[in-house]
Amino acid sequence: MISSIDTPLTSLESKSLSLYPSECFSLFSVAIRNCKMQQAVDSIIQHAQQGRSANFAFVNADCLNKAWNQAWYRMVLSRMQEVYADGVGIKWAAKMKGVAVVDNVNGTDLFPLLCAQAAEKGLKLFLLGSRPEVVEACAANMQIHFPKLHIAGTQHGYFKQEESNALIAQINASGADIVVVAFGAPLQEFWLDHFSQSLKAPVCIGVGGCFDFYAGRISRAPLWLRNISMEWVWRLIQEPKRMWSRYVIGNPLFLYRAWKLSQIGEDHA
Ligand code: UDP
Repeated sequence: MISSIDTPLTSLESKSLSLYPSECFSLFSVAIRNCKMQQAVDSIIQHAQQGRSANFAFVNADCLNKAWNQAWYRMVLSRMQEVYADGVGIKWAAKMKGVAVVDNVNGTDLFPLLCAQAAEKGLKLFLLGSRPEVVEACAANMQIHFPKLHIAGTQHGYFKQEESNALIAQINASGADIVVVAFGAPLQEFWLDHFSQSLKAPVCIGVGGCFDFYAGRISRAPLWLRNISMEWVWRLIQEPKRMWSRYVIGNPLFLYRAWKLSQIGEDHA
């Protein structure tokens, strides 16, 4: 578990400090590891190699808006080994507290790096989530990109609750070391918090809608847009109905909440 959570800065302190690259900071009572993408990949791989049980998650502005209202989600995130800072919203909110976020560590960019490392170290992945044709196409594409990658199995994310035990048995029989879960947040975090103890795989990681990208169902934003942390604009254009409230309402709401808290020097209302 993340051990050190920064105490919230008072507004006076935050005004007098320049940005500092804290190793870990807290937003809306969620402890977030402030690290480079490669450090996150290394941490996940090391836990898998050493057989140390650990769950990993990413949070973006939308996740923290959900965590704001849902104490159980904050609780689940507090039990994660590490939670990473995904997107420009988190970067801006951290900046209000005087913290400089060092990287945009999101599941979609991390996934191929994880596949590359897993292939090199001989670690097996199980891909769980998304529609059947999506998870299968994603697995096939990753296999083409990383011929040495061992995908121990795949399973779509639209199973019934009563099928969970059979699914656990299937994953355990596959011999997977890392279970990559893509149900979207916070469902995936809830699932892996609840079921990971029954899994033989030491490591579970929630990656959101990542399989949709690597299956080719949704195209990724051009690199220049990603480099300026504006991928959300692309997602909004691609799926306006589904993404409207998440981004157009959610992003300003998130920044307002973060600003308000930075003014009173608190971490949660
Ligand atoms: N999904 C799933 N089971 C469900 C609901 C959703 O497997 O019961 C999948 C869905 O097909 C999609 C992903 O979860 O692939 C959710 O993507 P979204 O973009 O909402 O996730 P985010 O990256 O925003 O967390």
